[in-house]
Amino acid sequence: MSTAAPRCFAAVGDVHGRMDAMVRALSKWERRRGRSLDFVLQVGDFEPHRDEADLATMAAPSRYRALGDFPNYAAGRRRFPWPIYFVGGNHEPYGLLDRLAPGDAIVGNCTYLGRVGVHRIAGLDVAALSGIHVPGLLTGRPPIDAIARTSNKAYIGFTEGEVLALLEAPRADVLVVHEWPTGVIAAADALDFERQRRSMRYDDVGNDYARMVMDHLAPQLVLCGHMHRRYRNRVGATEVCALADVDAGADAFAFFEATAQGIAELGD
Ligand SMILES: [Zn+2]
Repeated sequence: MSTAAPRCFAAVGDVHGRMDAMVRALSKWERRRGRSLDFVLQVGDFEPHRDEADLATMAAPSRYRALGDFPNYAAGRRRFPWPIYFVGGNHEPYGLLDRLAPGDAIVGNCTYLGRVGVHRIAGLDVAALSGIHVPGLLTGRPPIDAIARTSNKAYIGFTEGEVLALLEAPRADVLVVHEWPTGVIAAADALDFERQRRSMRYDDVGNDYARMVMDHLAPQLVLCGHMHRRYRNRVGATEVCALADVDAGADAFAFFEATAQGIAELGD
């Protein structure tokens, strides 16, 4: 990490097209704390549909299909006040995202980090992995031009090649993934996970590929979403920050300051 001036950034959980709610909550934090954000990292299920054609390429049951707020941003009627960088989740318009070059902005201040890569953002090395673990997709996805005659679900998983690309990267300050890495839940918190509505064994949560990448890169901070649940734990030298979805309110957001000493979480 460089010794640049302190930078302040936010992390945001699953947005599901509710960009206005995201912008409102982040602006509110700035006013309350009297600080300005330099950039925003978002953990996927962002749903930046410009129009119905983009929406048609998202994998989701029909009750979850909605255009959301993004058409206003795409048309320039609204604009993001800070640069937003996001990875892809399992609900995304991959017909749009997979045709962008990595690091390409969709609209001003809104950049998709691509399927995989390490990006220099405000002096931080930010590693990104889009998609979730789908065993059948590890060996590869169909070409994106086939999406109209293929299931949208054939595009929601990462591949082994993408995981390998991060295993060959030397290091990162921050890792952004959609699905949690395995083994990040403390045994002491196991009951909390087993008692919730969609009950699950705490040691079943997440995927081993994200965990391998986390162990290899040993970032100071891992950001993830997908479960719509806030959780924090320290694993070795890494702070794991899982975020709820934007509809959940404050649990969807976290705020950090990066200095020469490292990355520290700021309160809300
Ligand atoms: Zn979600």
